[in-house]
Amino acid sequence: TQKLLEIKGLHTHFETDRGVVPAVDGVDLYIEPGEVLGIVGESGCGKSVTSLSIMQLIPPVGKMKGAILFKNENLLEAKEKRMKKLRGNEISMIFQEPMTSLNPLLTIGQQISETVKLHKRVSSKEARNVSVDMLRKVGIPRAEAIMDEYPHQLSGGMRQRVMIAMALSCEPQLLIADEPTTALDVTIQAQILDLMKTLNQETGTAIMLITHDLGVVAEVCSRVAVMYAGKVVEDGSVADIFRNPSHPYTKGLLQSIPRMDLDKEQLYSIPGNVPMPGAITAGCRFAPRCEYAMDRCRTELPELTELEAGHRSRCWLTDERGA
Ligand code: SF4
Ligand code: MG
Repeated sequence: TQKLLEIKGLHTHFETDRGVVPAVDGVDLYIEPGEVLGIVGESGCGKSVTSLSIMQLIPPVGKMKGAILFKNENLLEAKEKRMKKLRGNEISMIFQEPMTSLNPLLTIGQQISETVKLHKRVSSKEARNVSVDMLRKVGIPRAEAIMDEYPHQLSGGMRQRVMIAMALSCEPQLLIADEPTTALDVTIQAQILDLMKTLNQETGTAIMLITHDLGVVAEVCSRVAVMYAGKVVEDGSVADIFRNPSHPYTKGLLQSIPRMDLDKEQLYSIPGNVPMPGAITAGCRFAPRCEYAMDRCRTELPELTELEAGHRSRCWLTDERGA
């Protein structure tokens, strides 16, 4: 099958006063049409920069290299005019804090109708009807009344539902969701994840879900890519990653998922920190934190190699060349 999105050797570097910061440093990943891919890793691993690179929303100090193929079209070569057409049309994005993406001075109805009118040639009255339908579809009660309310009148969970409604109103083929539930409390988080899963099944919109939380991945994703220090270190189906994790970083993340039967004090966390992008040295980036690190890990970078169909890992413990 043709991939919906295929990222090959993506580098996104920022030129700063202190030198070049390689936030994304050779990322390879893909999304199949209609699937939900989780991108997981601690903060500072390059997840958000990867998604902003897809949208071509990187500030001018950022330089990109490699290829981002969306339905075989390389977005790195697309003109801004073309990107404007793709953004919010074929590719939509939602963020952690919907308050910052909603205009506080306009009613919900004005904002969502505006989006609808951008994508469909409809009258204002029809746009309003479509908007109310969209709000109902994302589970907003009193949709008619909420059309005339302002963002600050809604709860965080309701605002995120509004953002999802706006993102989906143009029927995109890909929705990028960057930590969409991180700012919400646990109950609301579960409801929003449920909603995203249902909408994915109903509309066939593929979702790239960025999160630091493997628990979130387990809820909604069919496949996972684990990122560390600007690179993908393991990817595979949810079953591969949860039942048969290979990379020591993935294993560490799995151990750190909060569990009901353990106290907070007993919660495991991987020792050490993600290296600052400028401070990355030769060899495996995880070596300073890895309990299995060998000599060669500190000098030679392992490649992303296939362990079994659809399951890849970047580690000398499983790299054929390491044998
Ligand atoms: Fe650990 Fe070496 Fe594997 Fe890196 S390559 S994860 S340091 S064992
Ligand atoms: Mg982020």
